[in-house]
Amino acid sequence: MKLKPKLASVQTWEDDPGEPPIGRTPIQRPTPEVSHPSLPVSVAGEPPAESGDYPGSAEFRYWAAADAMSRASNFWGPLMPANTTWNGSVGQVLTAQLDSGDDLNAYYDRSGLCFFRHTVAGVTVHSGESPDVVCHEAGHAVLDALRPQFWGVLSAEVGAFHESFGDMSAILSSLGVGAVADEVLTETQGNPARSSRLSRLAEQLGWAIRQIDPSAVDRDCLRNAANNFFYRDPVTLRPSEPASQLSSEVHSFSRVFTGAFLDAVAGIFYQQPARDGDALVQAGQIMGRLLVAALLATPTVPALYAQVAAHMLAADKALYDGRYGPALRSAFVRHGILSPSEAVAADQAAPQHLAAITGVVPEPGADLGTVTVPAERYGLTEPFTASAPSEQPRFAVAGADPAIGSLTPADPAKAAETFIEDLFRQGRIAVADEFLTTSAAVVDGTRTRTHQVTRQDSGGLVLDRLLFL
Ligand SMILES: [Zn+2]
Repeated sequence: MKLKPKLASVQTWEDDPGEPPIGRTPIQRPTPEVSHPSLPVSVAGEPPAESGDYPGSAEFRYWAAADAMSRASNFWGPLMPANTTWNGSVGQVLTAQLDSGDDLNAYYDRSGLCFFRHTVAGVTVHSGESPDVVCHEAGHAVLDALRPQFWGVLSAEVGAFHESFGDMSAILSSLGVGAVADEVLTETQGNPARSSRLSRLAEQLGWAIRQIDPSAVDRDCLRNAANNFFYRDPVTLRPSEPASQLSSEVHSFSRVFTGAFLDAVAGIFYQQPARDGDALVQAGQIMGRLLVAALLATPTVPALYAQVAAHMLAADKALYDGRYGPALRSAFVRHGILSPSEAVAADQAAPQHLAAITGVVPEPGADLGTVTVPAERYGLTEPFTASAPSEQPRFAVAGADPAIGSLTPADPAKAAETFIEDLFRQGRIAVADEFLTTSAAVVDGTRTRTHQVTRQDSGGLVLDRLLFL
């Protein structure tokens, strides 16, 4: 059998195809095949023999997705503790399915990644062709490898952090590609905290959704990391709002943390001796390292954003001798993730927690407490249980009160029950007919379900996660 000649290079996008009509030019990249050994990735199907010179071709889509998968693996893999693997139910290799049907969507479901296509205004948008979307979904898988406990816990803030991690993964995985970093500095006149092609996530998918529902996404992309959103306890927010407002919906609420993240990347960039493209790539590497170190030790609590932030400040002391504390504190305070007084207190408390934050390995996850939701609340035939974010916080932090000082976080049971109420109101929970009474308050089934109520082996009903969008 004659072997196919190996392709030397392929064509792909730097970060996203951009809004139609496409004005961007694909870049050439080495053929993706080597991914970090602990986080191997693939795209379903036979690798095309052609490099896919033309956007719109199946070959182009394949290589664009394969290159994006390898970017995410090669960014996160070296930062993870040795021997980290994908979640056990994924298997050894994380595989992307590029044509999972007709939808404007993409998800990670603990089997792999699924991407969709949909035609809007004469343009067929393939979500798997956008490196932003691919690296977002791969980010869910990376965080699930790092912290499997975040998967099933019922908490708007934990779910929103997962979404933010996806967006941070998209930003960090593309920062070192092609001329992205230099282009960002040109577009923002040297201030990467401003809106740019880096902060504007999934411009093409955002455009497509905007044609159908103009207020559902930002006006220039799906979500923009350059934003002014200020922390609120999601328990107090409405379950949906136009994109210009903050709601407790996980993608909406994720923007608070992603906004602080972009400000922190910019702050770390300013602390580099040379403020050039290489320095911006370096700032991204530092943030990635701080995130991984912090997340390995952060307990699963209702006010997760503040807890992650305090752990990042401590990780900075452990890894960088506190060099980036000013950039981190400034970003978290600006977005209300920490109040000014909490930022001071977390910084002062960090030294006593360094042992817990250095040298830790991923834990299987402590058993979380559960809440029992009565059958009559949603018209089910039986009560069901769900995991609550009930670990003990390491740092006494909870996010800023918009007036002054800090908020008192919701208790774990309230955080879980309000999130469950949101999911029912948004039609995100699949419940089999056999568990529904005739008066059940389950919203119609047109939306992708992220959760389901199922029968446990032990007999009772449980609410668990199906996927992250
Ligand atoms: Zn997501």
